[in-house]
Amino acid sequence: MMDLSYIINILGEDEGGDVNPVSPPIYQTSNYYFRTVEQFRKAITNERDNWIYSRGNNPTINLLCRKIAALEGAEDALVFASGMAAISTAVLANVKSGDHIVCVQNPYSWTETLLNRNILPKFGIEVSMVDAADTSALIDAVKPNTSIIYLESPNSWTFELQDLNAIGQFAEEHGIMTIIDNSYSTPLYQQPISLGIDLVVHTASKYLGGHSDCVAGVCCGSKSMIDKIFLNEFLTLGGIMAPFNAWLILRGLRTLPVRMERTSRTTEAIISFLAKHPKVKMLFYPHHCSHPQHELAFRQMKKGSGVFTIQTVTEDVDKIERFCNSLTYWRMAVSWGGFESLVIPSCTFVRPGLYTGLPINLIRFSVGLEEPESLINDLEKCMQFL
Ligand SMILES: *Cc1c(COP(=O)(O)O)cnc(C)c1O
Repeated sequence: MMDLSYIINILGEDEGGDVNPVSPPIYQTSNYYFRTVEQFRKAITNERDNWIYSRGNNPTINLLCRKIAALEGAEDALVFASGMAAISTAVLANVKSGDHIVCVQNPYSWTETLLNRNILPKFGIEVSMVDAADTSALIDAVKPNTSIIYLESPNSWTFELQDLNAIGQFAEEHGIMTIIDNSYSTPLYQQPISLGIDLVVHTASKYLGGHSDCVAGVCCGSKSMIDKIFLNEFLTLGGIMAPFNAWLILRGLRTLPVRMERTSRTTEAIISFLAKHPKVKMLFYPHHCSHPQHELAFRQMKKGSGVFTIQTVTEDVDKIERFCNSLTYWRMAVSWGGFESLVIPSCTFVRPGLYTGLPINLIRFSVGLEEPESLINDLEKCMQFL
Protein backbone atom coordinates (compact mmCIF):
# COMPACT_ATOMS: atom_id res chain seq x y z
CA MET A 1 0.00 0.00 0.00
CA MET A 2 1.43 3.35 -1.04
CA ASP A 3 1.05 5.98 1.65
CA LEU A 4 0.97 9.71 1.00
CA SER A 5 4.65 10.27 1.87
CA TYR A 6 5.73 7.46 -0.42
CA ILE A 7 3.73 8.85 -3.35
CA ILE A 8 4.97 12.39 -2.85
CA ASN A 9 8.63 11.72 -2.08
CA ILE A 10 9.59 8.38 -3.58
CA LEU A 11 7.24 7.04 -6.26
CA GLY A 12 8.91 7.10 -9.68
CA GLU A 13 11.95 9.06 -8.50
CA ASP A 14 14.74 6.47 -8.39
CA GLU A 15 14.63 5.09 -11.86
CA GLY A 16 17.83 4.80 -13.83
CA GLY A 17 21.20 6.45 -13.96
CA ASP A 18 23.84 6.86 -11.31
CA VAL A 19 23.32 10.56 -10.60
CA ASN A 20 20.46 10.09 -8.10
CA PRO A 21 19.17 13.66 -7.85
CA VAL A 22 16.63 14.23 -5.03
CA SER A 23 14.86 16.73 -7.28
CA PRO A 24 13.96 15.26 -10.68
CA PRO A 25 15.55 16.59 -13.89
CA ILE A 26 13.52 18.67 -16.33
CA TYR A 27 13.60 16.91 -19.70
CA GLN A 28 13.41 19.98 -21.87
CA THR A 29 13.24 18.06 -25.13
CA SER A 30 10.68 17.92 -27.92
CA ASN A 31 11.83 14.63 -29.48
CA TYR A 32 13.86 11.46 -28.78
CA TYR A 33 16.32 9.81 -31.19
CA PHE A 34 16.77 6.21 -32.28
CA ARG A 35 19.99 4.38 -33.16
CA THR A 36 18.52 2.07 -35.79
CA VAL A 37 15.64 2.16 -38.27
CA GLU A 38 14.46 -1.11 -36.77
CA GLN A 39 14.07 0.43 -33.30
CA PHE A 40 12.46 3.53 -34.80
CA ARG A 41 9.98 1.47 -36.85
CA LYS A 42 9.01 -0.59 -33.84
CA ALA A 43 8.55 2.42 -31.52
CA ILE A 44 6.46 4.43 -33.94
CA THR A 45 3.66 1.88 -33.99
CA ASN A 46 3.08 2.50 -30.28
CA GLU A 47 3.16 6.16 -29.30
CA ARG A 48 1.73 5.40 -25.84
CA ASP A 49 4.64 3.32 -24.59
CA ASN A 50 7.64 4.85 -26.33
CA TRP A 51 9.72 8.03 -26.20
CA ILE A 52 9.02 9.56 -29.59
CA TYR A 53 7.78 13.13 -29.28
CA SER A 54 6.87 15.29 -26.25
CA ARG A 55 3.29 15.95 -27.40
CA GLY A 56 2.93 12.34 -26.26
CA ASN A 57 5.46 11.28 -23.61
CA ASN A 58 8.05 13.18 -21.63
CA PRO A 59 9.84 11.78 -18.55
CA THR A 60 9.21 14.86 -16.35
CA ILE A 61 5.53 14.87 -17.36
CA ASN A 62 5.17 11.11 -16.90
CA LEU A 63 6.60 11.29 -13.38
CA LEU A 64 3.92 13.84 -12.49
CA CYS A 65 1.22 11.65 -14.11
CA ARG A 66 2.23 8.68 -11.95
CA LYS A 67 2.08 10.70 -8.74
CA ILE A 68 -1.25 12.35 -9.60
CA ALA A 69 -2.82 8.97 -10.46
CA ALA A 70 -1.54 7.46 -7.20
CA LEU A 71 -2.84 10.42 -5.17
CA GLU A 72 -6.33 10.03 -6.68
CA GLY A 73 -6.28 6.25 -6.35
CA ALA A 74 -6.67 6.06 -10.15
CA GLU A 75 -5.01 3.60 -12.52
CA ASP A 76 -3.60 6.35 -14.70
CA ALA A 77 -3.54 10.10 -15.34
CA LEU A 78 -2.71 12.69 -17.97
CA VAL A 79 -1.61 16.27 -17.35
CA PHE A 80 -2.51 19.32 -19.43
CA ALA A 81 -1.61 22.94 -20.18
CA SER A 82 -4.51 24.11 -18.00
CA GLY A 83 -7.47 22.87 -16.02
CA MET A 84 -9.68 23.83 -18.95
CA ALA A 85 -7.55 21.78 -21.38
CA ALA A 86 -8.06 18.78 -19.07
CA ILE A 87 -11.81 19.40 -18.76
CA SER A 88 -12.35 20.04 -22.50
CA THR A 89 -10.36 16.95 -23.45
CA ALA A 90 -12.12 14.69 -20.93
CA VAL A 91 -15.55 15.89 -22.10
CA LEU A 92 -14.80 15.79 -25.85
CA ALA A 93 -13.47 12.25 -25.46
CA ASN A 94 -16.87 11.08 -24.26
CA VAL A 95 -19.47 12.78 -26.45
CA LYS A 96 -20.62 12.71 -30.01
CA SER A 97 -23.06 14.78 -31.97
CA GLY A 98 -26.64 14.16 -30.82
CA ASP A 99 -25.66 13.28 -27.25
CA HIS A 100 -26.99 14.85 -24.08
CA ILE A 101 -25.03 15.89 -20.98
CA VAL A 102 -26.36 16.43 -17.47
CA CYS A 103 -24.29 19.07 -15.67
CA VAL A 104 -24.51 20.60 -12.22
CA GLN A 105 -25.90 24.10 -11.93
CA ASN A 106 -23.26 26.85 -11.61
CA PRO A 107 -20.13 24.91 -12.57
CA TYR A 108 -16.84 26.75 -13.12
CA SER A 109 -17.60 29.57 -15.59
CA TRP A 110 -15.47 28.28 -18.48
CA THR A 111 -16.87 24.78 -18.03
CA GLU A 112 -20.28 26.31 -18.57
CA THR A 113 -18.95 28.07 -21.67
CA LEU A 114 -17.65 24.75 -23.02
CA LEU A 115 -20.81 22.77 -22.33
CA ASN A 116 -23.59 25.25 -22.69
CA ARG A 117 -22.52 28.33 -24.60
CA ASN A 118 -19.84 28.46 -27.27
CA ILE A 119 -18.45 25.02 -27.97
CA LEU A 120 -20.60 21.87 -27.59
CA PRO A 121 -23.88 23.44 -28.81
CA LYS A 122 -22.14 23.92 -32.19
CA PHE A 123 -21.96 20.13 -32.52
CA GLY A 124 -25.59 19.43 -31.64
CA ILE A 125 -24.85 18.35 -28.08
CA GLU A 126 -27.53 19.29 -25.61
CA VAL A 127 -26.90 20.08 -21.95
CA SER A 128 -29.27 20.13 -18.97
CA MET A 129 -28.03 22.14 -15.99
CA VAL A 130 -29.62 20.80 -12.80
CA ASP A 131 -29.64 21.50 -9.09
CA ALA A 132 -27.84 18.29 -8.26
CA ALA A 133 -27.85 18.80 -4.50
CA ASP A 134 -31.02 16.76 -5.01
CA THR A 135 -29.87 13.45 -6.54
CA SER A 136 -33.37 12.65 -7.82
CA ALA A 137 -33.45 15.94 -9.79
CA LEU A 138 -30.23 14.89 -11.48
CA ILE A 139 -31.60 11.42 -12.23
CA ASP A 140 -34.83 12.92 -13.60
CA ALA A 141 -32.80 14.98 -16.08
CA VAL A 142 -31.16 11.90 -17.61
CA LYS A 143 -32.35 10.95 -21.10
CA PRO A 144 -31.76 7.86 -23.26
CA ASN A 145 -28.97 9.75 -25.09
CA THR A 146 -27.22 11.06 -21.96
CA SER A 147 -23.55 10.19 -22.30
CA ILE A 148 -21.96 12.26 -19.50
CA ILE A 149 -22.93 13.34 -16.00
CA TYR A 150 -20.66 16.26 -15.18
CA LEU A 151 -20.14 17.05 -11.48
CA GLU A 152 -18.35 19.68 -9.43
CA SER A 153 -18.63 18.89 -5.73
CA PRO A 154 -18.46 21.42 -4.31
CA ASN A 155 -18.48 24.26 -6.81
CA SER A 156 -16.25 27.16 -5.96
CA TRP A 157 -18.73 30.01 -5.36
CA THR A 158 -21.76 28.65 -3.56
CA PHE A 159 -20.34 25.26 -2.57
CA GLU A 160 -23.24 22.94 -3.39
CA LEU A 161 -22.37 19.25 -3.13
CA GLN A 162 -23.54 16.14 -4.96
CA ASP A 163 -23.90 12.70 -3.42
CA LEU A 164 -21.04 11.06 -5.33
CA ASN A 165 -21.72 7.51 -4.19
CA ALA A 166 -25.39 7.58 -5.20
CA ILE A 167 -24.71 9.27 -8.54
CA GLY A 168 -21.73 7.01 -9.32
CA GLN A 169 -23.86 3.93 -8.71
CA PHE A 170 -26.75 5.21 -10.83
CA ALA A 171 -24.43 6.15 -13.69
CA GLU A 172 -22.69 2.80 -13.65
CA GLU A 173 -26.00 0.94 -13.85
CA HIS A 174 -27.00 3.07 -16.84
CA GLY A 175 -23.65 3.06 -18.66
CA ILE A 176 -23.17 6.83 -18.33
CA MET A 177 -19.71 8.33 -17.95
CA THR A 178 -19.26 10.43 -14.79
CA ILE A 179 -16.72 13.25 -14.68
CA ILE A 180 -16.01 15.36 -11.61
CA ASP A 181 -14.02 18.54 -11.11
CA ASN A 182 -12.31 17.76 -7.79
CA SER A 183 -10.19 20.92 -7.65
CA TYR A 184 -11.64 22.26 -4.42
CA SER A 185 -10.96 19.22 -2.27
CA THR A 186 -7.71 17.98 -3.80
CA PRO A 187 -7.14 14.19 -3.73
CA LEU A 188 -6.22 14.55 -0.06
CA TYR A 189 -9.72 15.52 1.06
CA GLN A 190 -11.93 13.75 -1.48
CA GLN A 191 -11.32 10.68 -3.63
CA PRO A 192 -14.18 10.43 -6.11
CA ILE A 193 -12.91 7.28 -7.83
CA SER A 194 -13.31 5.36 -4.57
CA LEU A 195 -16.92 6.60 -4.56
CA GLY A 196 -17.62 5.27 -8.05
CA ILE A 197 -16.87 8.28 -10.29
CA ASP A 198 -15.12 7.48 -13.61
CA LEU A 199 -12.96 10.49 -14.46
CA VAL A 200 -11.50 13.08 -12.08
CA VAL A 201 -10.27 16.42 -13.42
CA HIS A 202 -8.46 19.19 -11.57
CA THR A 203 -7.03 22.56 -12.23
CA ALA A 204 -3.47 22.17 -10.96
CA SER A 205 -3.17 25.97 -11.03
CA LYS A 206 -4.85 26.06 -7.61
CA TYR A 207 -3.94 23.73 -4.70
CA LEU A 208 -1.88 21.10 -6.53
CA GLY A 209 0.67 23.69 -7.67
CA GLY A 210 -0.09 25.95 -4.74
CA HIS A 211 2.33 28.77 -5.54
CA SER A 212 0.34 30.83 -8.08
CA ASP A 213 3.16 30.58 -10.61
CA CYS A 214 1.79 28.11 -13.13
CA VAL A 215 -1.41 27.25 -15.04
CA ALA A 216 -1.94 23.49 -15.38
CA GLY A 217 -4.53 20.68 -15.29
CA VAL A 218 -4.87 16.94 -14.73
CA CYS A 219 -7.27 14.13 -15.61
CA CYS A 220 -7.36 10.71 -13.86
CA GLY A 221 -9.22 7.51 -14.61
CA SER A 222 -9.00 3.86 -15.61
CA LYS A 223 -6.05 2.72 -17.71
CA SER A 224 -8.31 1.91 -20.66
CA MET A 225 -10.01 5.33 -20.60
CA ILE A 226 -6.73 7.23 -20.17
CA ASP A 227 -5.12 5.20 -22.98
CA LYS A 228 -8.08 5.99 -25.22
CA ILE A 229 -7.87 9.70 -24.43
CA PHE A 230 -4.09 9.72 -24.93
CA LEU A 231 -4.23 8.14 -28.38
CA ASN A 232 -7.12 10.27 -29.61
CA GLU A 233 -7.99 13.61 -28.00
CA PHE A 234 -4.75 14.19 -26.07
CA LEU A 235 -2.39 13.73 -29.01
CA THR A 236 -4.79 15.47 -31.40
CA LEU A 237 -5.84 18.52 -29.40
CA GLY A 238 -2.29 18.87 -28.08
CA GLY A 239 -3.03 20.80 -24.89
CA ILE A 240 0.11 19.52 -23.17
CA MET A 241 1.86 20.77 -20.05
CA ALA A 242 5.40 22.11 -20.48
CA PRO A 243 8.12 20.06 -18.70
CA PHE A 244 9.07 23.05 -16.56
CA ASN A 245 5.49 23.46 -15.38
CA ALA A 246 5.36 19.74 -14.55
CA TRP A 247 8.47 20.29 -12.44
CA LEU A 248 6.77 23.22 -10.66
CA ILE A 249 3.72 21.06 -9.90
CA LEU A 250 6.00 18.24 -8.67
CA ARG A 251 7.62 20.76 -6.35
CA GLY A 252 4.21 21.99 -5.24
CA LEU A 253 3.11 18.44 -4.40
CA ARG A 254 5.99 18.03 -1.90
CA THR A 255 4.20 20.44 0.42
CA LEU A 256 0.58 19.70 -0.50
CA PRO A 257 -0.23 17.92 2.79
CA VAL A 258 1.27 20.66 4.98
CA ARG A 259 -0.28 23.42 2.92
CA MET A 260 -3.71 21.81 3.07
CA GLU A 261 -3.45 21.19 6.79
CA ARG A 262 -2.44 24.79 7.45
CA THR A 263 -5.09 26.28 5.18
CA SER A 264 -7.86 24.09 6.68
CA ARG A 265 -6.92 25.00 10.21
CA THR A 266 -6.69 28.74 9.48
CA THR A 267 -9.98 28.59 7.60
CA GLU A 268 -11.76 27.02 10.57
CA ALA A 269 -10.59 29.91 12.74
CA ILE A 270 -11.72 32.49 10.18
CA ILE A 271 -15.08 30.76 9.71
CA SER A 272 -15.70 30.81 13.48
CA PHE A 273 -14.98 34.53 13.47
CA LEU A 274 -17.24 35.29 10.48
CA ALA A 275 -20.10 32.93 11.38
CA LYS A 276 -21.10 35.04 14.35
CA HIS A 277 -20.31 38.43 12.85
CA PRO A 278 -23.38 40.73 12.56
CA LYS A 279 -22.33 42.00 9.07
CA VAL A 280 -22.41 38.47 7.64
CA LYS A 281 -25.83 37.34 6.43
CA MET A 282 -24.85 33.90 5.16
CA LEU A 283 -21.81 31.70 5.03
CA PHE A 284 -21.10 29.20 2.23
CA TYR A 285 -18.72 26.54 3.54
CA PRO A 286 -19.48 22.80 3.25
CA HIS A 287 -18.08 21.90 6.66
CA HIS A 288 -19.92 24.59 8.62
CA CYS A 289 -23.11 23.57 10.41
CA SER A 290 -25.07 26.29 8.57
CA HIS A 291 -24.45 24.54 5.22
CA PRO A 292 -27.57 22.55 4.23
CA GLN A 293 -25.41 19.60 3.13
CA HIS A 294 -22.79 19.63 5.85
CA GLU A 295 -23.61 16.07 6.85
CA LEU A 296 -22.87 14.91 3.29
CA ALA A 297 -19.70 17.03 3.36
CA PHE A 298 -18.44 15.16 6.41
CA ARG A 299 -19.44 11.83 4.84
CA GLN A 300 -17.64 12.15 1.50
CA MET A 301 -14.94 14.76 2.16
CA LYS A 302 -12.26 14.32 4.76
CA LYS A 303 -12.01 18.04 5.53
CA GLY A 304 -12.90 21.45 4.19
CA SER A 305 -10.20 23.36 2.37
CA GLY A 306 -9.55 27.08 2.32
CA VAL A 307 -12.13 28.60 -0.03
CA PHE A 308 -15.49 29.92 1.14
CA THR A 309 -17.98 32.70 0.40
CA ILE A 310 -19.94 35.11 2.56
CA GLN A 311 -23.08 37.00 1.72
CA THR A 312 -22.98 40.38 3.40
CA VAL A 313 -25.99 41.91 5.15
CA THR A 314 -25.50 45.00 3.04
CA GLU A 315 -26.32 45.07 -0.67
CA ASP A 316 -24.60 48.41 -1.02
CA VAL A 317 -21.84 47.88 -3.58
CA ASP A 318 -19.96 50.99 -2.39
CA LYS A 319 -19.62 49.46 1.06
CA ILE A 320 -18.45 46.13 -0.36
CA GLU A 321 -15.92 47.95 -2.52
CA ARG A 322 -14.62 49.92 0.47
CA PHE A 323 -14.23 46.69 2.46
CA CYS A 324 -12.29 44.95 -0.31
CA ASN A 325 -10.17 48.00 -1.15
CA SER A 326 -9.15 48.41 2.50
CA LEU A 327 -7.78 44.90 3.13
CA THR A 328 -4.01 44.53 3.49
CA TYR A 329 -3.26 40.80 3.60
CA TRP A 330 -6.16 39.71 1.40
CA ARG A 331 -5.36 40.68 -2.14
CA MET A 332 -8.01 41.04 -4.80
CA ALA A 333 -7.66 38.59 -7.68
CA VAL A 334 -9.24 35.69 -9.54
CA SER A 335 -8.08 32.14 -8.84
CA TRP A 336 -7.51 30.54 -5.45
CA GLY A 337 -5.55 27.80 -3.72
CA GLY A 338 -2.18 29.56 -3.65
CA PHE A 339 0.09 30.62 -0.76
CA GLU A 340 -1.50 34.07 -0.79
CA SER A 341 -4.89 34.97 0.66
CA LEU A 342 -7.34 36.40 -1.86
CA VAL A 343 -10.78 37.95 -2.08
CA ILE A 344 -13.10 38.44 -4.99
CA PRO A 345 -16.43 40.23 -4.62
CA SER A 346 -19.25 39.10 -6.92
CA CYS A 347 -19.95 42.78 -7.70
CA THR A 348 -16.84 42.71 -9.95
CA PHE A 349 -18.68 40.61 -12.51
CA VAL A 350 -22.37 40.24 -11.62
CA ARG A 351 -24.31 42.09 -14.27
CA PRO A 352 -27.34 41.29 -16.39
CA GLY A 353 -26.77 38.38 -18.73
CA LEU A 354 -23.69 37.06 -16.99
CA TYR A 355 -23.64 34.92 -13.88
CA THR A 356 -27.22 35.94 -13.24
CA GLY A 357 -27.48 33.13 -10.71
CA LEU A 358 -25.29 34.95 -8.19
CA PRO A 359 -26.36 37.78 -5.86
CA ILE A 360 -24.33 40.98 -5.96
CA ASN A 361 -23.35 40.88 -2.27
CA LEU A 362 -21.13 37.80 -2.21
CA ILE A 363 -17.44 37.89 -1.32
CA ARG A 364 -15.32 34.81 -1.93
CA PHE A 365 -12.20 34.22 0.14
CA SER A 366 -9.22 31.95 -0.50
CA VAL A 367 -7.18 31.39 2.62
CA GLY A 368 -3.41 31.33 2.12
CA LEU A 369 -0.54 30.40 4.37
CA GLU A 370 -0.19 33.63 6.34
CA GLU A 371 -0.45 33.82 10.12
CA PRO A 372 -4.12 33.27 11.03
CA GLU A 373 -4.04 36.27 13.41
CA SER A 374 -2.89 38.62 10.63
CA LEU A 375 -5.75 37.48 8.40
CA ILE A 376 -8.42 37.73 11.09
CA ASN A 377 -7.18 41.10 12.35
CA ASP A 378 -7.24 42.41 8.80
CA LEU A 379 -10.87 41.29 8.36
CA GLU A 380 -11.84 42.65 11.78
CA LYS A 381 -10.35 46.04 10.95
CA CYS A 382 -12.27 46.30 7.66
CA MET A 383 -15.68 44.88 8.70
CA GLN A 384 -16.65 48.40 9.82
CA PHE A 385 -16.89 49.41 6.15
CA LEU A 386 -19.57 46.83 5.37
C1 LIG B 1 -9.67 27.58 -12.08
C2 LIG B 1 -10.63 26.47 -12.21
C3 LIG B 1 -10.68 25.68 -13.37
C4 LIG B 1 -9.87 26.00 -14.60
O1 LIG B 1 -8.53 25.76 -14.42
P1 LIG B 1 -7.40 26.50 -15.25
O2 LIG B 1 -6.14 25.85 -14.78
O3 LIG B 1 -7.50 27.96 -14.90
O4 LIG B 1 -7.69 26.27 -16.69
C5 LIG B 1 -11.53 24.61 -13.39
N1 LIG B 1 -12.31 24.30 -12.34
C6 LIG B 1 -12.30 25.03 -11.22
C7 LIG B 1 -13.19 24.65 -10.09
C8 LIG B 1 -11.47 26.15 -11.12
O5 LIG B 1 -11.49 26.89 -10.01
